[in-house]
Amino acid sequence: MANDNSKTSSQSGRLQAIISHCKEYGFVFPGSEIYDGLQAVYDYGQWGSELKKNIKDYWWKSMTQLQENIVGIDAAIFMHPTTWKASGHVDNFNDPMIDNKDSKKRYRVDHLIEGYADMLKAESKVQEAEKILSDMDSLVAKDDFEGLKKLIVDNKIKCSISGTCNWTDIRQFNLMFSTEFGSTENAEGEFNKVYLRPETAQGIFVNFLNVQKTGRMKIPFGIAQTGKAFRNEIVARQFIFRMREFEQMEMQFFIRPGTQKEWYERWKETRMNWHLSLGISKDKYRFHDHVKLAHYADAACDIEYEFPIGFKEVEGIHSRTDFDLKNHQEYSKKKMQYFDNDVDPATGKPYGNYIPYVIETSIGLDRMFLLLMCEAYTEEDLSTPEKQDSRVVLKFPPVLAPVKLAVLPLVKKDGLPEIARKIMDDCKASFRCFYEEKDTIGKRYRRMDALGTPFCVTVDQQTKEDNTVTIRHRDSMHQDRIAINDVKKIVMSAII
Ligand code: ATP
Repeated sequence: MANDNSKTSSQSGRLQAIISHCKEYGFVFPGSEIYDGLQAVYDYGQWGSELKKNIKDYWWKSMTQLQENIVGIDAAIFMHPTTWKASGHVDNFNDPMIDNKDSKKRYRVDHLIEGYADMLKAESKVQEAEKILSDMDSLVAKDDFEGLKKLIVDNKIKCSISGTCNWTDIRQFNLMFSTEFGSTENAEGEFNKVYLRPETAQGIFVNFLNVQKTGRMKIPFGIAQTGKAFRNEIVARQFIFRMREFEQMEMQFFIRPGTQKEWYERWKETRMNWHLSLGISKDKYRFHDHVKLAHYADAACDIEYEFPIGFKEVEGIHSRTDFDLKNHQEYSKKKMQYFDNDVDPATGKPYGNYIPYVIETSIGLDRMFLLLMCEAYTEEDLSTPEKQDSRVVLKFPPVLAPVKLAVLPLVKKDGLPEIARKIMDDCKASFRCFYEEKDTIGKRYRRMDALGTPFCVTVDQQTKEDNTVTIRHRDSMHQDRIAINDVKKIVMSAII
């Protein structure tokens, strides 16, 4: 048990180290930092935005280009307000919250209880923690707010600010942000209220027929989309794990009613394989089936990854039935049906008109970013009996690394920068390269390790004689001598 404790504290230390690394090396900055930041809002820096874009491209390629029956769209963030009535978000997108009367701080009830359970675990009271979590799950499943408050009070769970147990009753709060559309009031003297989308999925549903008809898509088919989503998260902590403005990569797969179980299992497997294709160990992942299903789902699970803060959701797979399309049909009075002229073997007749069922895969881009950071961040002790040494290296899969190749002339003279520049010119149209001539070569290698650059080539005096350079491999630090003409080919073959 003592080991568990040290693991917990060293793991939270690890997350802190990753956060510092992200800031120091231009991956992630606190949003509006010069004004002391804005809670749960982050900006991606020069290398973070490259990494994010690479993750997005990797997802997009595997979900559209490699899936012949899935196409992508890019819908607007603002949607007609009735969209969110139809989707159920106006009435149901709530979280139970509780306020501490002394500090006035508001907590999401599940987060308050989970935080307490984490503290118990850190004190080696694992069984007690598990009991509270399972009690919470069953109370949440029944929407039993009185029971949840009793659980908080009976366990004397305190506010982290006031240190008291003086709690209000539990209430529901809607997580959607709203704003006003246009500058004029309507006939009733009200501004038109619109919401910032809390998920990208609805942009897909309202375009279902547009895409199906113009793309002549045949069921089963999917529509994919990446984009920003906004949620007024009350407990917004743990770095980019939970933000108020974040990005999702979602795909809605339209199927024949009655086939949802089979497709749900298929998409669970496909999405898990996508994660594993990045070389991440299977042990770091698990499925977590939902006990309490969302208002639209008949089955749902999360793909969880073992972050330094424990196993947490990175992606959701949801069997959404025909809930969304049916409701959009009802609210918009526009038919959302598909005519299926395939023959049903049971009746010998075409399946005919129906509202398709939907399997959704929904992954948070920022959570995937954090996952990759956690996976890649490695502190290595390189000390020898003669000398103490260490390095921090980000072992990203080369396809996702922000910079693929660093080109480094050994010295800033003797014509070496000119040769290095020619290598840059030859490669930079194909992948992201980085040129650097300042500092010792050792320091430059370390900086590239800290960005996760898989290859460094060094131009030295020998290059002038035989047109060869050394190529250094990030993870092994092994160096080979190769022909300049092979540089591009070697990098390209590693990043496909
Ligand atoms: P959670 O239980 O963590 O609040 P959720 O179940 O509400 O997440 P979904 O609505 O299923 O999440 O959204 C799909 C994905 O979007 C999640 O798996 C997650 O990766 C991402 N996501 C959701 N909320 C946030 C957020 N506030 N910040 C960053 N990513 C988020």
